[in-house]
Amino acid sequence: MSIAENIGKIRERMTQAAKKAGRDPGSVRLVAVSKTKPAAAVAEAFGCGQQIFGENYVQELVAKQAELPKEISWHFIGNLQSNKVRQIAGLVQLIHSVDRLSLAREIDRQWGTLGKVCDILVQVNISREETKGGTSSGELLGLLGEVAQLPHLRVVGLMTMPPFFDDPEGARPYFRALRALSLEVEQAGIPGVEMRELSMGMSGDFEAAIEEGATLVRVGSALFGEREYH
Ligand SMILES: *Cc1c(COP(=O)(O)O)cnc(C)c1O
Repeated sequence: MSIAENIGKIRERMTQAAKKAGRDPGSVRLVAVSKTKPAAAVAEAFGCGQQIFGENYVQELVAKQAELPKEISWHFIGNLQSNKVRQIAGLVQLIHSVDRLSLAREIDRQWGTLGKVCDILVQVNISREETKGGTSSGELLGLLGEVAQLPHLRVVGLMTMPPFFDDPEGARPYFRALRALSLEVEQAGIPGVEMRELSMGMSGDFEAAIEEGATLVRVGSALFGEREYH
C-alpha cells in the first residue's frame, strides 16, 4: 500500500478511536515516525498533508531536514545524549524524551544561546524496564520541580513507551497510568509546568492510547512500512 493510503487509513482509525472515547478527533495529532526512512518518503507524506515528523537520531534528523521543506515540524523522540543537543537546537518543535536533569539543563543552555524556549515532554518509564529510557513515576515530581526552574525550556506534557505486546490491549494499563500521572502533576500545580500533551501509542496500539487520552501518537511502520534494523 502507498504512503497516501496508509495515512488515510491511520487518520480514519484515529478519528474512530477518538469518537469511541467521546473525544474531539482534532485533539489528537499524528507524529509520523520517519527514522531510517529516506527524505523522499517524508516528502511524500508531507505532500499528503502530514505536518509533524518524529526522528530518533540526531544526524539523521539534521541531514533530512536540510533536504526538506521548512514548513515541516520536527519532533525528537529518541534517546538524546547531552553532547548532541547543540546540533538540534532551534531545529525541533518538541523533544519527547527528556528524562534527566542534566539533559534538561543542556537543552536550556542551547536554546538559551538562541534566545528561544524549547517545548519538552518528560519521558516516564512506567513499566520500569531496564532497557527503556524515562524517569520513574516516583521521581517525576521532583524532576519536574527542578526542570520548571529552567527559563529556556517549557514542560508541556508526558511521554511513555510501554513494553512490547502482540495484543494492543496489553499496553492499555500503561497508557492509563501515564494519564493518571499527568493528572497528579496537574494537581501538584508546579508553576511553569503544563500537562496539555500525552505522547503515547505507536503502530500496534495507537487506538487504545487515544481511548486513554493520547494527544500525540507516534506511528512509524504502519505509515512507512516495516523498518530495516538500524
Ligand atoms: C520507532 C518509534 C516509534 C514508532 O514505532 P512503530 O511501531 O514503527 O509505529 C514510536 N516511538 C518511538 C520512541 C520510537 O522509537
